[in-house]
Amino acid sequence: MTQPEPMSIFDADQLAACVQCGFCLSSCPTYETTYLEEHGPRGRILAMRLVEEGELAIDDPDVVDSMETCVQCRACEVVCPSLVEFGSLMETARAAINEQQPPAGAEGRAQEVLFLGLKHRWLLRAGTILLALAQTLRLDRVLPERLRPARRVRLGDTLKGYRLPPPGAPIRGDAFLFRGCVMDGMFRDVHRATAQVLAAVGYRPRFEPAPPCCGALSAHAGRESEAHAMAEATIAAYAGTTGPILVNSAGCGGSMKEYGTLLGTEEARAFSARVKNLAELVTPEEVAARGSDVPLTLAYQAPCHLKNVQGLAEQSRALVAAIPGLTLIEPDDEQQCCGSGGIYSYLQPAFGDAMLARKDASFQRTGADGVVSANPGCAMQIARKGWETHHPAQLLARSLTP
Ligand code: SF4
Ligand code: SF4
Repeated sequence: MTQPEPMSIFDADQLAACVQCGFCLSSCPTYETTYLEEHGPRGRILAMRLVEEGELAIDDPDVVDSMETCVQCRACEVVCPSLVEFGSLMETARAAINEQQPPAGAEGRAQEVLFLGLKHRWLLRAGTILLALAQTLRLDRVLPERLRPARRVRLGDTLKGYRLPPPGAPIRGDAFLFRGCVMDGMFRDVHRATAQVLAAVGYRPRFEPAPPCCGALSAHAGRESEAHAMAEATIAAYAGTTGPILVNSAGCGGSMKEYGTLLGTEEARAFSARVKNLAELVTPEEVAARGSDVPLTLAYQAPCHLKNVQGLAEQSRALVAAIPGLTLIEPDDEQQCCGSGGIYSYLQPAFGDAMLARKDASFQRTGADGVVSANPGCAMQIARKGWETHHPAQLLARSLTP
């Protein structure tokens, strides 16, 4: 641990903006888990202030625990009357901790392998093939339950197999589907469904260019320079193209819509303006008018980064609710995180499991047959409790494609 000394790492205006009112506490899933001040946004901001003033070191074990138990759901940000930008304060804290005290031992090595894989599509593909083989041979069962991905990877799963708009149908132009890392490795069926929906409403789906990872996981883990490099590489990959960049992972979409803030350049801001969710390209009216019945009763899960970062949970919910024959039920704890948080559920299993248990109970109370989720991490986390999960794109494709 380093000796405390004043640090100028945080945005002083943001720290000062917090009036310690506590309005955010009941929205915070980690505070709701322990009811300890250090596990809530107000206590975390106070700890940041004490670090800034030199009262506490950034690598003090209590400070590290306070920051690393935050799932970065940003639920506190949207309810804060003082508009404190908590997400950016937390990313600053994580970057400073990561610099002083990078993850060590087996966990550190596992993270290095993971983040190396995210940077190279061929490594990611190799990892996916190994996982598929391990699942086929049931070798994954040697891993503890919480380390086993709750999704079956299919070798040879292809991005082909969607229908283009019928001849003579109006064409709205190219839409570039961002393939990403986890989505491209484990959710190609969702990518195909997304392409089907895009084609059904008149876009030409494009799977190239294909930069490997948006950098969201790196940013959340405090790997600041890596996150910047991934954002720059993603923007560069799409240079020379025009049209919407469709992102069907809520976490990636949230991160890419914030490239403008992250990099602070005109180019990044222009790129972020192109990043779209399906709910921004397809209207409930066209789904209601053209869709066929999907007779399912499902609970709606609003991923934190769709709701608190992109502000699109209502729009996405309305789009799914417009599918004829589908009954969508709102769980009574809609604002609470499921505990996935990228790799958070692996790093903070006690908190992740407690949040998942609350989420599971709220889904049970709906009486639904399955869950709608627009984020791969949430879908896998919720599936750990045995729920069948559906991405909005899969439901829309089923309804819009004859
Ligand atoms: S972050 Fe906002 S809501 Fe929370 S204590 Fe500070 S001012 Fe109040
Ligand atoms: S980002 Fe989420 S977990 Fe972190 S302090 Fe805010 S509400 Fe709590």
